[in-house]
Amino acid sequence: MRAEVLIVGGGISGSTLAYLLSRKGFSVTVVERRRVVGHPHHCSGILGPDAVSELVLFSDEWIIGEVNWATFVSPGGSKIEVRRHVATVVDRARMDRETWEAALSEGARGFLSTRFKGLRSRNEALVGDMVIEYDLLVGADGALSSVADELGFPLMRFEVGIHKVVEGGEIDGYYVKVRKGSRFSWIQPWKGGRKVGALGRVDDPLLTWIQGMSGDPAIGYEGGVIPVGPRRRFWMDNVALVGDAAGQIKPVSRGGVLLAVRGAKHLANCLEDLDDLEGALRCYESGWWRQNRREISLGWAIRKFLESLDDQKIDRLFTLIREEGLMERDFHVDRQSAPLKITRLPKILKLASVDIGSAASALAEALKYLLR
Ligand SMILES: Cc1cc2nc3c(=O)[nH]c(=O)nc-3n(C[C@H](O)[C@H](O)[C@H](O)COP(=O)(O)OP(=O)(O)OC[C@H]3O[C@@H](n4cnc5c(N)ncnc54)[C@H](O)[C@@H]3O)c2cc1C
Repeated sequence: MRAEVLIVGGGISGSTLAYLLSRKGFSVTVVERRRVVGHPHHCSGILGPDAVSELVLFSDEWIIGEVNWATFVSPGGSKIEVRRHVATVVDRARMDRETWEAALSEGARGFLSTRFKGLRSRNEALVGDMVIEYDLLVGADGALSSVADELGFPLMRFEVGIHKVVEGGEIDGYYVKVRKGSRFSWIQPWKGGRKVGALGRVDDPLLTWIQGMSGDPAIGYEGGVIPVGPRRRFWMDNVALVGDAAGQIKPVSRGGVLLAVRGAKHLANCLEDLDDLEGALRCYESGWWRQNRREISLGWAIRKFLESLDDQKIDRLFTLIREEGLMERDFHVDRQSAPLKITRLPKILKLASVDIGSAASALAEALKYLLR
């Protein structure tokens, strides 16, 4: 079998790319190892306004609830409150499945229960019990990408996020408890109740606590692996990575849908001529960075700063942010560095005074991304 573009992974990045490239007239095959796209439900489905407007497809029927407020709580109980609509919660399983179906209606060939197993040659992949010949192979196969492994991309570090549906106690906002190391746990709206989740390292006791919580026995707990940050390179020879496989996530919240969709869009826009794959892949990588560099750099500075603070310093930071009124007006789920405006330098310096040494290291981290 032959395809101009072979995409491994039918999640949001793979299905969006399959949809866009099929519309452009490329012959596309997309393979997904699961029997049903989107299951199990590994994502909380919290999408900011940019994500909602930038998805190539969106249906109001995917909406599970609205996030009408957000409360962030420090380890010692200092609170930052945002009293306005900040995000929409969608059914990610349905969103992924319907995007996959849309790709197939545009002409992409899709195979479920079909796992990428490796390469037979530079242009041939073993998927399920087939050999598929391709011009471009795309790894849209998540944080533990086997395409990246097979090609010898460097290993990525990752964290784990899990969540559980709890019946009753409905909320229409987002309650986040920030913990040392920039980890956090949260409560969010969900159908028929709420969802409780946490993000941390694999051995984090909070993750074990959530697994043990009483919840919907039919679902148990769900979750998945989250890359620590973007890879240096998104492509190699005739192979590209997109979405979680490329580490395209927001540094502070670790949400990945918006940046995965942007990844798929840049790759689809840049791919015109299969005879100039290198030009297209360079265009993809540089386009994604041009669009996201500022947010990734400043987001990493915020994350590094948070990671280096102990509980008391996080408490102090929260109190200062509240006193300076930095979040109420400017908190944005998709632009998490929005409160850091140059016009607010005196206020930012006040925040940095919580730990000047850590602030300097965080700034160095931002520069690393800005200058890459
Ligand atoms: C607990 C948790 C909560 C999250 N909450 C949010 C949130 O609220 N908002 C947000 O924006 N982001 C959130 N994220 C992150 C978001 O889910 C990911 O960034 C996003 O799903 C990335 O999409 P993707 O298509 O790149 O990868 P994935 O969604 O991981 O899709 C990869 C697909 O590839 C398939 N696959 C893997 N290996 C193979 C193989 N060898 N062969 C064939 N197929 C394969 C997988 O089955 C999967 O369907 C959350 C993540 C976790 C873990």
